[in-house]
Amino acid sequence: MKTTKEEVFKRARAGQLWAGNLIDNYRDSGAKLENRTPIDDSLIGFIADGNAQDVEAAVLTARRTFVEGCWQNLSPQERKQVMLRWAELIEYHSEELAALDCIDAGKPITECLNTDMPATVETFYWYAEALDKMFGKVAPTGQQELGLIVQEPIGVVGAVLPWNFPAQMFAWKVAPALAAGNSVIVKPAELTTLSAYRMVELAYEAGVPKGALSLVYGLGEKVGEAIGRHNDIDIVSFTGSTDVGRLFLKYSAESNLKEIVLECGGKSPQIVFADADLDAAVPHIMASAFWNMSENCSCGSRLIVHESIHRKLLDKLVTAIADWKVGNPMDESVSIGPMIEKAHFEKVKSFIELSLQQGAKRVAGGKIHSELGSGWYIEPTIFDNVTPEMSLFQNEVFGPLLAVSTFSSDEEAITLANKTHYGLAASFYSQNVHRVMKVARQINAGTVSINGFSEGNITTPFGGFKQSGFGGKDNGLEAFEQYTQTKVIWMIHH
Ligand code: NAD
Repeated sequence: MKTTKEEVFKRARAGQLWAGNLIDNYRDSGAKLENRTPIDDSLIGFIADGNAQDVEAAVLTARRTFVEGCWQNLSPQERKQVMLRWAELIEYHSEELAALDCIDAGKPITECLNTDMPATVETFYWYAEALDKMFGKVAPTGQQELGLIVQEPIGVVGAVLPWNFPAQMFAWKVAPALAAGNSVIVKPAELTTLSAYRMVELAYEAGVPKGALSLVYGLGEKVGEAIGRHNDIDIVSFTGSTDVGRLFLKYSAESNLKEIVLECGGKSPQIVFADADLDAAVPHIMASAFWNMSENCSCGSRLIVHESIHRKLLDKLVTAIADWKVGNPMDESVSIGPMIEKAHFEKVKSFIELSLQQGAKRVAGGKIHSELGSGWYIEPTIFDNVTPEMSLFQNEVFGPLLAVSTFSSDEEAITLANKTHYGLAASFYSQNVHRVMKVARQINAGTVSINGFSEGNITTPFGGFKQSGFGGKDNGLEAFEQYTQTKVIWMIHH
């Protein structure tokens, strides 16, 4: 039976949304953490406060399942049928999952329903469909030998997730890793836990063996670190901040040299050249800067504008801000909900104060709506006169603050765009095809979108350059392949 969003919101108000570890079956680790919604900071339930023993139990069952082969040794066609059934169940329960993400993360319900869940569902279908179309290779040998190059699942995968796109980040990691035949242990961010629990329940209903997919909740320093340091986990795929990503490299170096895939932070530039179609660009610039309260890794938080159109573009952006309604994210007309938690809200607020002190000029927004719910609601804000020395130019805020700088030549635009230690994404606007080709090549970013804001789609690999990423990608066949390892089978004829 489907659960409607209204029923989810009612259960939240009654404090009945909880999530526990799913390891073989439900495993009660005893301790609990409060789960509060950023919408009004009210208690919506509890989650398990997991620990290293829970991780140990999850690894034991994951390894046993992998060795016994009840998942990895299914024929690709059989595994595909289970993955397809899971995708169908997730699609069927999309409204419930969207409402869980809305209440858990304070994300606008419209976004959860119309963007996050369709992308999540598509990810599951795509990897289900891909898994029986992956071929190995045959080496060029003489008649006396046969050399096969085959891809095999790696074994036990740890997936450590962030809070900003709870269902979608779960899908980006779990769908390809499980489709490839691995056993997967998921650790959602402690701030957003609910949709993962429901999706794992649906996986079991679809026929995924329990040992092939486990869920361990808890704090990063306890559960995340235990996953990072476990000697029987073969690969960890992490999405989160660059600082924590760095720790996973250390955990690996100090344990079993497990593979590490890092999808980390960003400070993505948007360049607007003088020949851009400004009216077409404005909605994209706004979406890139403020979508998901700017709690988005690829957020285009730096706007680099040619000096000749700077005033004109700013006027258009200031006008466009009016369309971004701040309010309760359960309301379908709202585009900007609260910041995820008080500490994060305070951090964003301190960036506003610091930017003013450092000489940036606030030209729009910046109002804090303390009268709304939790009070952690910040209007989309535009700062002009931002220079590369300023904190706002260099550091990821993860809140709705757009930094505007100007340039006078293409070379200067590219230098400014590349002048941070991040390289996740970039977008730029120009109608000159020669400039488009040149600039696209010169920007240091994993995804460069032209005349629009895009992260690509499920068919294209997503991941960053420089300190935005390391060791692999999400999405595309690249993600599937990174959860496999290459083996050579060499046969000699006598
Ligand atoms: P975070 O780094 O604080 O946490 C991410 C995960 O790591 C959580 O599950 C957390 O519990 C865990 N963790 C925290 N401390 C840990 C520790 N000491 N040891 C082990 N694990 C630990 O990040 P966040 O605040 O949840 O997410 C926001 C960040 O994620 C931003 O920097 C954003 O840019 C990034 N992000 C990147 C992408 C991408 O694809 N590149 C996508 C989404 C988010």
